[in-house]
Amino acid sequence: MALVATNQAPKGKLVVKNIGLMLSGDLQAPILDADCIIAIDGRIDSIGKESSLDTKGADTLVDAKQTALAPGLIDSHVHPVFGDWTPRQIQINWIDSFLHGGVTTMISAGEVHLPGRPKDIVGLKAAAITAQRSFDNLRPGGIKLHAGAPVIEKGMVEEDFKDLAEAGVKLLGEVGLGGVKEGEEAKKMVAWARKYGLQSTIHTGGPSIPGSGLIDSDVVLEADADVIGHINGGHTALPLKEIRCLCERCTRAIEIVHNGNEAAALYAMRTAFELGQSERIILGTDSPAGSGVQPLGILRMIAMLSAIGDVPAEIAFCFATGNTARIRELDCGLLEPGRAADFVILDRAQHTAGKTLLESVGLGDLPGVGMVIIDGVPRSGRSRNTPPATTLPEIVGAG
Ligand SMILES: [Zn+2]
Repeated sequence: MALVATNQAPKGKLVVKNIGLMLSGDLQAPILDADCIIAIDGRIDSIGKESSLDTKGADTLVDAKQTALAPGLIDSHVHPVFGDWTPRQIQINWIDSFLHGGVTTMISAGEVHLPGRPKDIVGLKAAAITAQRSFDNLRPGGIKLHAGAPVIEKGMVEEDFKDLAEAGVKLLGEVGLGGVKEGEEAKKMVAWARKYGLQSTIHTGGPSIPGSGLIDSDVVLEADADVIGHINGGHTALPLKEIRCLCERCTRAIEIVHNGNEAAALYAMRTAFELGQSERIILGTDSPAGSGVQPLGILRMIAMLSAIGDVPAEIAFCFATGNTARIRELDCGLLEPGRAADFVILDRAQHTAGKTLLESVGLGDLPGVGMVIIDGVPRSGRSRNTPPATTLPEIVGAG
């Protein structure tokens, strides 16, 4: 198991050259006219044509061999517990497996699978603070996992949200997974969370597993959380007219998940485009869950939405990178100087019918991941999970 402490600031110069296609993560300009990217001490320094950049003195030089480079993928909705272990499907190394699916950042929607999860207020606060610290100190596979997402319960008061914020908690777990299920009560707590800088997500749709409950569009609208969590259900979706109503009647993020209803996913995405608000679309797996744990879940969503939803692949990549980074206020997800040097290098899978990476994804095929880089440091080479890439990048040493 690859465990990486986060308190070591990355040092050195990374140069990735000979890039055949550069996907920016930005809906406004999803493809960059560039073939080289340079990172210094874990941050993007410059992007452009190799001939015009200062590539000398690289500590790590990667030859992309004309394959594609995109920002590392962000999974907006996961349910971790501690370390690289999940009791939900009794698996270890699941986070490291996501690294091999091109994911470099994950957002916890609540550590709800913690065995014996405390539901009393002091207990749930302590558990959230512990989870936040735990994943801040330890990155399974190198993945940045933003955790410590308390699931709100009845009886919480404003002071609790202030305490959580002061202790370093930045997220609320899915509203509705705990005892707070009514709109009015949820609205009050979401507003307190927002006041102290905690971002919130609400469960949308039918119960996920025995013990959870229905959250309909009226409750979602009244609670007004920052993210309409799994608008396509987790797994049971709301009627399509309620999904339309959520898209039309608020401006919050439209989160589409792998472990939801695919028809509802396509409907939500199309509705966002109809409204001219594609920047609201973000992707998650909602795993580990009853549906399983999907290391390739974000790539599968990109391919599904592109192929069946008729969205150019380079746009679908933005949902899982730049859109999520902007909505989640992350310093990664876009290829821009100053942002974290988190990249995935991809190529079309061997024997796909698509002639290029983008064409293959547009046909619904998964790309092959050749390398994943986090904070300017290569964390994995050829993916053990994706179909094999036609061409692999190579570390050619220092330059
Ligand atoms: Zn949920």
